[in-house]
Formats: sequence, structure tokens, C-alpha cells
Amino acid sequence: MIIKNKHKTTLNLNPHIPAKKPQNISVEALFSEIIQGNKVALAQGITRIESTAPHHSPFANELITKILPYTGKAVRIGITGVPGVGKSTFIESFGTYCTDVLQKKVAVLAIDPSSSVSKGSILGDKTRMETLVKNDLAFVRPSPSGTTLGGVAKNTREAILLCEAAGFEVIIIETVGVGQSETLVKGMVDFFLLLNITGAGDELQGIKRGIMEMADGIIINKADGDNAKKAIFAQKELERALHYFPINPSGWIPKVLTYSSLNYEKATDVWQMITEFVETTQANQYFFKNRNQQNQVWFTETLKEGVLQRFYADETIQKAVEIALELIKNNQISPFTAAKNILDGWVKPT
Ligand code: GDP
Repeated sequence: MIIKNKHKTTLNLNPHIPAKKPQNISVEALFSEIIQGNKVALAQGITRIESTAPHHSPFANELITKILPYTGKAVRIGITGVPGVGKSTFIESFGTYCTDVLQKKVAVLAIDPSSSVSKGSILGDKTRMETLVKNDLAFVRPSPSGTTLGGVAKNTREAILLCEAAGFEVIIIETVGVGQSETLVKGMVDFFLLLNITGAGDELQGIKRGIMEMADGIIINKADGDNAKKAIFAQKELERALHYFPINPSGWIPKVLTYSSLNYEKATDVWQMITEFVETTQANQYFFKNRNQQNQVWFTETLKEGVLQRFYADETIQKAVEIALELIKNNQISPFTAAKNILDGWVKPT
């Protein structure tokens, strides 16, 4: 559906579909619409920050600078689990509980590092979270694509900030795809939730220990029908296993809950767990230290990626690398000397 807003810009009402490239809207106008909670403007803002066109970059940077004072108030929740564990169904169920019962505004963002390779979300054609998409208090945005992993992560982090500025109080980041997504998401959220299902035999099978160590909460999902009893058994087993894990720097002891998306019965428990986590970690300051540390890491990572990009974009460097590779192939220079020569020769500001 296409509408004309008061700025005479063509907008797309469905935030699930990337908004049409905004043409003439000013940063000030977009900013003012976003902080009023306009979801169409929010979608446009995200499209702007995702744009790789160099002339869009100052617009996006200015927008982010403007909205920064309006950010930080949401609880940021990361959700991970193997494909098929029920992540999107859980988000529909839990997200609807947050909007309908708690009357909270919920934003759902997905992060899919594989999109940086495949140049597009693997879920691009899959309709997901149909109820939440239509919910007035919810905003659902599929995974941003990006040319690099760092780019995908940057887009998601800035999308979180935009959602917060638009007044969203619960931000859910879903990991889609496999690979580095867990670490990336852990680095941008307050609470990291692992979804799991009961398996035959060893309940710990298939759960990577590293991911369990990152989790602040574990949910045994699909705890319904024949699975209900098995889920409670798995819950007890996981609780026992967690005792052997190192103490979390947050001072929080991860909880294990069972859940079924067939109803909202257990959503209260999940919300209570997250609220308790926030209260505990805000009381001991970890919550704030963690966000601060995350910002520092993102700064360092962004700087590193920028340096690498500028370095390899330099034509003299490209030539020198080509020559060095040839010399190395012919065994005329050691790889270390070749690398050192290029680095020593790189123009440094005086
Ligand atoms: P994702 O790949 O982790 O996002 O998983 P989906 O949310 O797409 O769910 C995978 C399948 O599990 C779908 O067929 C869902 O209908 C089913 N499913 C999800 N949650 C539940 C649940 O709580 N109980 C039952 N019985 N099935 C579920």
C-alpha cells in the first residue's frame, strides 16, 4: 500500500517490505517522525542506515547522532537456537504477550550473517511472524543484508537504536543462519536466550557448550503434548549441568524454563526471568558496564574494518601486494619480509 505523507514522500506502509528509497525527506523531518513512533519513518530510517551508497552516509550518520539521546531505554533480547527449534514461533507468541498483556511496544530484528555472502536474506521469501507484522504495537524487520559481516552487525546495532528512539521497549534480535551470529548478537544485547528442544537420549547433545555459556536463559521449547514430560526432565538435567559452568560475570545464574508456543501460559515466566535479570544486573551495575563495553568493542571493530578497507582500496598497496605475491611464489622473498616492506612503505601522516 502506498501513501503520501505530509512531506510528500512516497512511503510503504508495511515495515516488513523495505521502504522505497526516500528521495527528498530531510534528516530533521525523518528524525521528528521517528521519535513520534512513526513505523513507516522508522523503516525508512533503517533503509537509510543500510544503504551502501556513499552519498547516503552523511544522512545516516546525522540521523544516528540526532536520535542517540533518545536511545538506551529498551531491554535488548537476543534469541538463538538451531533452525526448526521454534524461534520465530516463540517470538510471535512471546512478542504478542508483550504487546497484548504488558502493553509494551516490541521490535523484532533478525540478523543473518550468511546474507553478507549470499547478498540477501535467506528468508527473504518466507513470510514470518504474520500476527506480529500486523500488530500495531509491533515492528518486524527482516535481516539486513550487507557486504561484510561487520556491515550486517553495524546495520543491526543502528537499527536497535532507531527502534529505541521510536519508543520500542522490548527489542528482540533473532539469529538466523549459522556461524558467527551468536557471538555477534551476544555483543549487542542485554539478555541472551537460547532455545532448545528435547532430543532422544543425551539432552545436552547438539548444544554447543560455548553457546550455553553465553546464555542468560535457556528455554526447552515445544513443551506440549507428548513432549511436556520430557521437557521437564530436560529442564532438570540442564539445571544440573549449569552448576558446572563458570560463574557468570553478570552475577546472574542462568535459568532454565519450559515453553510452548501453543499458548501464552509460560510467557509470564519468561518475562519475569528477563525482568529479574535486568533488576539484578542494574543493581550490581553489570548492565551498564556491559553496554559500555559493547560500545567500546564496536568502536574498535569498526575502526579495524575501516583501516583494512582503506588499506586495500589504495592502488599503490594493491600493486605492491600483487608484486609481493609474485615474488613469494618464486621464493624470492619471505612472506614476512614482503608484508613488513609494504607496511613500512604505507603512507603515514607526519
Ligand atoms: P525456527 O526455524 O527456529 O524459527 O523455527 P519455527 O518457528 O519456524 O518452527 C519450526 C516448526 O516447529 C514449525 O512447524 C512450528 O509450527 C513448530 N513449533 C514451533 N513452536 C512450537 C511449539 O511450541 N510447540 C509445537 N508443538 N510446535 C512448535
